[in-house]
Amino acid sequence: MDCIFCKIAAGETPADIIHTDEEVIAFRDINPQAPVHVVIIPGEHIATLAELPEEKAMLVGHMVDVANRLARSEGISESGYRVVINCGQQGGQLVQHLHMHLLGGRQMAGSLG
Ligand code: 5GP
Ligand code: ZN
Repeated sequence: MDCIFCKIAAGETPADIIHTDEEVIAFRDINPQAPVHVVIIPGEHIATLAELPEEKAMLVGHMVDVANRLARSEGISESGYRVVINCGQQGGQLVQHLHMHLLGGRQMAGSLG
């Protein structure tokens, strides 16, 4: 499968990986939108949030937990941060492999869209 995030998960494409466990991998975004911009992905290829099977909903809970832990290790837990999942075309999803953005280190705009 020609998926950039699967290639990162497989170690075939280099990335600045800052967390890995049995279920997820986290790496720094190649085009950061904030001083801290981390992408958290499941190792398993799931194309979008909309395609997440009900029985795998806990996976997103684990991604949130990893985001919280990385926010602490990146030093933005106290100042605050934003966690975002873009889904589908109008959701602004460009890479078709489920992922969560962790953004922080600057004041986020109030708008969500
Ligand atoms: P989306 O718009 O799909 O929610 O966000 C995809 C994100 O993945 C973007 O912020 C983009 O900069 C990041 N990205 C795309 N390709 C790569 C890559 O090869 N390496 C890394 N580290 N980030 C990538
Ligand atoms: Zn993939």
